[in-house]
Amino acid sequence: MGKVLVIGCGGVAQVAIQKCAQNDAVFDEICIASRTVSKCDDLKKKIEAEGKSRSKITTAKVNADSVDELIALIKSVKPDVVLNLALPYQDLTIMDACLACGVHYVDSANYEPEDTEDPKWRAVYEKRCKELGFTAYFDYSWQWAYQKKYKDAGITAILGTGFDPGVTSVFTAYALKHYFDQIDTIDILDCNGGDHGYPFATNFNPEINLREVSANGSYWENGHWVETKPMEIKREYNFEQVGMKDMYLLHHEEIESLAKNVPGVKRIRFFMTFGQSYLTHMKCLENVGMLRTDTVMFEGKEIVPIQFLKALLPDPASLGPRTVGKTNIGCIYTGTKDGKKRSIKIYNVCDHQECYKEVGSQAISYTTGVPAMIGTMMVMTGQWKGAGVFNVEEFDPDPYMEALNKWGLPWVVDENPVLVD
Ligand code: NDP
Repeated sequence: MGKVLVIGCGGVAQVAIQKCAQNDAVFDEICIASRTVSKCDDLKKKIEAEGKSRSKITTAKVNADSVDELIALIKSVKPDVVLNLALPYQDLTIMDACLACGVHYVDSANYEPEDTEDPKWRAVYEKRCKELGFTAYFDYSWQWAYQKKYKDAGITAILGTGFDPGVTSVFTAYALKHYFDQIDTIDILDCNGGDHGYPFATNFNPEINLREVSANGSYWENGHWVETKPMEIKREYNFEQVGMKDMYLLHHEEIESLAKNVPGVKRIRFFMTFGQSYLTHMKCLENVGMLRTDTVMFEGKEIVPIQFLKALLPDPASLGPRTVGKTNIGCIYTGTKDGKKRSIKIYNVCDHQECYKEVGSQAISYTTGVPAMIGTMMVMTGQWKGAGVFNVEEFDPDPYMEALNKWGLPWVVDENPVLVD
């Protein structure tokens, strides 16, 4: 049917690309591109050696910080869709290149600058902190600003098709379509019950993960943001197939888009589970300055502490063989249907070792990579179409929900869930 250009070949991309190759009726051709082309070549060889896919796979070298390099690549590959699975730092350059070439754009995380000291970005950020009331480094304003340009160009940008954001937002659209006339509250619960056996490691890019987790928390209530100190709000929850876990309230990007796209919603919160060991390590690293994102001089050389830390920590893509246990990620909704109060929970349980057997990755990469493929498929097949910039909850959730069941992330609706106080 069509050709996808995937930018990035890290933990998440490796799953998404293998799922595209499994789905060869939709993805005739897959071009994999990043700065380290040897990684892309290794994945191509792995898929070809398995001999199960009819997709033609090519690789290329690109620095996605350069719009010119991206334009040259897109012009030579001629993809129908570009799937951005590099880092949030590259979102805007890749959106610019897609716009210049008239090609659809899909990603899994919203824009965040690499250099948070950049005065031009900082001025916009500080204004936004004051006006909106949350201080996370990432927000949708940068990408939503492309709405008119994408609309005028007649192309589609789909933002945030991972699990959270992504599946959690599609769950919300599904709940609204089939279970509620009005959703009052949304609690997004992200539980990783997996154990990789290391004292400390992150399940996806350490820099992005630690920036997110060490930041202030926040939630949406009655039309505005309420900000909390990092890890200030803690709850316990008994997760199906995982058990009792401590979870902490974080700021998370889908709160921003759901607050805009779910009419009349009164409260949206996001909780993630963390073990005590993870939190103690993170606090210690933060206290000694290892989570700093600015440049410091070390023996006459400029280094960014969090990037140095990344080089020391286990590569998330290497955790697959050693991670056991399950993830349980989903959303609890309360609201009304036909004048009656109701609450439901929609969730998926994913087993780390099952993912490893299928694609050689742990469940965090899997639960992100599968929806990245599905979101791209929605655009490629025209099941989701429209000119402009969209979050996933703005489309019909049904074909996406069907695809989750088909491609490895089956979901459950619990009509009598335990609520979070
Ligand atoms: P990794 O660090 O494992 O991989 C990042 C990839 O991007 C690497 O292949 C890297 O390759 C490539 N890359 C980085 N910079 C550039 C550049 N300048 N030009 C070209 N390629 C580049 O990250 P993950 O796979 O863990 O995460 C990928 C994305 O998924 C991130 O944006 C993350 O935030 C998002 N994510 C979303 C989730 C969700 O549920 N929505 C959950 C987890 C992650 P190279 O260095 O060779 O260029």
